[in-house]
Amino acid sequence: MSAWDKKGRAGRHLTALKRIFTGLSALIFPPRCASCKSFLELPASHLMCRKCRSEITPLSGPRCKCCGMPFDSTKGVDHVCAACIRKRPPFKRADSLFVFEESVRNLIHRFKYHSDMPALRALVSISEKTLQDLLPEKEAGDAGSWVVLPVPLHKSRLRKRGFNHAAVLATRLFRDARIDYSLLRKTRKTPSQTGLSLKDREQNIRGSFSCRTLRRGCRQVLIFDDVFTTGATASAAALAVKKAGAEDIRVITIARTPLP
Ligand SMILES: [Zn+2]
Ligand SMILES: [Zn+2]
Repeated sequence: MSAWDKKGRAGRHLTALKRIFTGLSALIFPPRCASCKSFLELPASHLMCRKCRSEITPLSGPRCKCCGMPFDSTKGVDHVCAACIRKRPPFKRADSLFVFEESVRNLIHRFKYHSDMPALRALVSISEKTLQDLLPEKEAGDAGSWVVLPVPLHKSRLRKRGFNHAAVLATRLFRDARIDYSLLRKTRKTPSQTGLSLKDREQNIRGSFSCRTLRRGCRQVLIFDDVFTTGATASAAALAVKKAGAEDIRVITIARTPLP
């Protein structure tokens, strides 16, 4: 038997062993849906069950060209909403990939608060393709000119949680982009935004970010976060980035909460 044949046989044995191992581990640790944790049908070819996958709602339809708010009517074209006409946000445009509904909310919460890795993998898997269509390089034609800034956590919250979920997601999602983890900082600890009105949210977070001066060539900025609720966090971060010299500011989040 030639060395080539032996190598082929060994490879086939290894593949068979891998299959047996995968089958056994699926019996001992049956794969669960990354979102609702129900058991998946075997062989599991997805990270989420059929129901959770069907409930993921991409953010589509006519929306505000500036803050990204979807309009009630599904007819018509994108235009600037009344709120943005009254007061322009400090960013040029905000986009979200999905509506913040149960499936996506579960994934974000499991990853953010329980360091759940299957939830992270599922989030990356559902976001990758849609994100490609939103990336500003497509318009600018110059991938090198944008710098991604994940929204930072205050050091005390970072210590408590152990990681910045926005930074981990950005690392997995913006593989070809420049990401800077230290330019933008959360300098003041703020109470949770949950349950606050828009006005209170703005007051709560205003002035809590700072950004180091942006060098020439780093002035097109993409602020990245998990969820866009009222835009108060994105606006506060964008103001800091603007003060630091940003010429063009975009915001991208994984999900956006439905209108109240
Ligand atoms: Zn599920
Ligand atoms: Zn708007």
